[in-house]
Amino acid sequence: MTERLRIAVQKKGRLADDSFALLKKCGLRFAIRGGGLLTRVKNLPIDLLLVRDDDIPAFVSTGASDLGFVGENVLVEEQLTTEGGIDAQIDRRLGFSRCKLSLAAESGGDILSSTDLNGTKIATTYPGVLRKYLADNKIKATIVEMKGAVELAPSINIAQSICDLVSSGATLEANGLAAFETILQSEAVLIKSARTLSPVKQDIYDKLIRRIDGVTASSDSKYIMLNAPRAALEAISAILPGADAPTVMSLAGSDDMVAVQAVCTENVFWETLEQLKAEGARAILVLPIEKMMA
Ligand code: ATP
Ligand code: ZN
Repeated sequence: MTERLRIAVQKKGRLADDSFALLKKCGLRFAIRGGGLLTRVKNLPIDLLLVRDDDIPAFVSTGASDLGFVGENVLVEEQLTTEGGIDAQIDRRLGFSRCKLSLAAESGGDILSSTDLNGTKIATTYPGVLRKYLADNKIKATIVEMKGAVELAPSINIAQSICDLVSSGATLEANGLAAFETILQSEAVLIKSARTLSPVKQDIYDKLIRRIDGVTASSDSKYIMLNAPRAALEAISAILPGADAPTVMSLAGSDDMVAVQAVCTENVFWETLEQLKAEGARAILVLPIEKMMA
């Protein structure tokens, strides 16, 4: 039986759909059905281990799985709270599930900054990260550890403030709270242990990582095509965001206009198109790039 690379992925929740979508963009074919813990990828020797996100760092650390997709916040928390530490590090940043671990208190209340936390109680599901933040900043406060529904703590007088994940801030607002400080920025990350993979697994890993890099690189990249006055070529090339030397071709029946094509590795905004047009560019097309491999 051939060895299979095992990847731990959140079964259900805020990280799950984007993780599955990334794997599908990498060409992995699989179906997620209710119940099962292990899902086989049909076209590559990879198995997906479907679990709760909090367990992923430990699975990677102990070798139950080779790789894991997890929120950086969960990884850092597990690194800080697991006795003896864990053997799981960030291998790639994935750019989705961006959120912040923030301190928040009642809007219009007495707690306006972190120094006001001295002598108070703070509710959180991230005691490790919070404890470190308080120690680093010499703040003496009591941590009230909860398993969920942290945003309700101030209204039921369990704590005066909270330390919780925030993306838009709508949940905080709905509970009469406002964030006053961010203690950790987070995004989804691919984690791996420092152990050496077997040669077979290493090959599968190399193939997967090339594809992940290709998907991440192409997600912000655009292919841009335009016609430009020959005299404005230099000015126009300078505006193209993150583009190497563009391809320049002559246009049939025109001496002073050329066709320009380039891969822009950064996002192309409307403002960029307006600048290009101001330099004399015409017939500007911006196309998405599906895959890239250097
Ligand atoms: P599980 O049942 O797997 O333990 P959970 O309830 O702990 O799930 P989710 O709410 O699904 O976790 O969040 C998973 C991860 O998604 C978080 O650890 C964080 O990295 C990220 N995340 C959390 N909240 C947001 C948000 N509002 N926007 C974007 N990403 C978020
Ligand atoms: Zn969780």
